[in-house]
Amino acid sequence: MSGFAEEHEIFRQALRTFVTHEIAPNVLAWEAAGELPRELFRRLGELGYLGVRLSENSGGSGRDFWYTAVLVQELARCGSIGVPVSILAHAEFATKVIDRAGSEELKAQFVRPAAAGERIGALGVTEPDAGSDVAAIRTRAVRAGGDWIIDGAKTFISNGTIADFVTTAVRTGGPGRGGISLIVVPTDTAGFSRGRRLRKLGTHASDTGEIAFQGCRVPARNLVGEENGGFKLIMQGFEGERLVLALLATAQMRLMLEEAVRYGHTRKAFGQPLLGFQTWRHRLADTATTIEAAEALTYRALDLYVRGEPCNAQISMAKLFATESAIRVAHHCAQIHGGMGYMEECLMARLYRDSLAFTIGAGTSEMMREIIARTSGFDPQG
Ligand SMILES: Cc1cc2nc3c(=O)[nH]c(=O)nc-3n(C[C@H](O)[C@H](O)[C@H](O)COP(=O)(O)OP(=O)(O)OC[C@H]3O[C@@H](n4cnc5c(N)ncnc54)[C@H](O)[C@@H]3O)c2cc1C
Repeated sequence: MSGFAEEHEIFRQALRTFVTHEIAPNVLAWEAAGELPRELFRRLGELGYLGVRLSENSGGSGRDFWYTAVLVQELARCGSIGVPVSILAHAEFATKVIDRAGSEELKAQFVRPAAAGERIGALGVTEPDAGSDVAAIRTRAVRAGGDWIIDGAKTFISNGTIADFVTTAVRTGGPGRGGISLIVVPTDTAGFSRGRRLRKLGTHASDTGEIAFQGCRVPARNLVGEENGGFKLIMQGFEGERLVLALLATAQMRLMLEEAVRYGHTRKAFGQPLLGFQTWRHRLADTATTIEAAEALTYRALDLYVRGEPCNAQISMAKLFATESAIRVAHHCAQIHGGMGYMEECLMARLYRDSLAFTIGAGTSEMMREIIARTSGFDPQG
């Protein structure tokens, strides 16, 4: 069951052509550079791809989430999973929340140029001492006249070293989830600094970095939504982010299977193609079944999300199953490639190392299990 209609497929065809001609040929260079070029964001903005999720008065086209699904699926086909990570960190993670809850002024200042690809965004939640436990963040923002003054540090931030603005989680009130706000920080503000660009196991085309705030002063109007209302906004944002990662993991599995089938038909051992051995046909049959299951779960969660129905548990199940499955599927699909499956020059090897990010980002598998257990009534504490 999917919600793709004819107009989504028309959108898909145009995007596929763009990915084939303007993205795929460059991905190895971008992986080596450790970041996407600004020009790519501009080009994507010009073609309307960055604004599919954003409202029309923010410069977007206000389309449903099935368009975002097409965007994720087609970008994944470039074979370098850091590419969709960086683009979606900008278009979905950093920007959608401002579009949803920000003032008209913030939308004009940040969302409109983000939709056009002129300004790149990042979402800054995780800190050196607070990841899964978002309610424990310590970066503090204090009111001083018409400004906020921010002090603290964030880590593992996608687009952190290239962003023009960071949608930042800060503590504006007391301890716990009720004291958190979201504030947009332009990265050219005095007191904002970039730390290390972190070297990662995979997703190399997406930069991931440390950022810091030291007496960083931004106007009071940069608050997104209500003061101390940030935790709820972050949790709402996680729904879209987790759907993106479930879609990405599923799209990645489809690519892995294609690679495994292609190799299994052409590579010969003991006088026959590898797929002449039943063991490999069966392993790939299991893989095809897993992909169908992950996709069905993801589409079901997406359908509920688009219809505005409660879907926190379904999204968590989709993210948990798709991302954990992607690692197992990667293992089988790399194994059929033999030694070649361990070589950086092999697409399957790169997909393998890229798959390891998604059981962590936007909430770990353990956090997904916590949500599922809580919403299913398994927790004796309620
Ligand atoms: C590639 C990549 C990109 C990222 N991009 C961003 C970004 O753009 N913006 C951003 O803000 N963050 C980003 N992150 C950070 C990511 O959201 C965090 O890494 C994640 O939420 C986990 O936090 P942590 O690393 O501090 O681990 P911790 O929270 O310290 O957890 C460590 C381990 O303990 C487990 N654990 C924690 N609590 C419990 C519990 N109650 N029960 C059982 N197990 C538990 C976790 O599941 C995990 O296995 C990114 C991370 C990666 C890897």
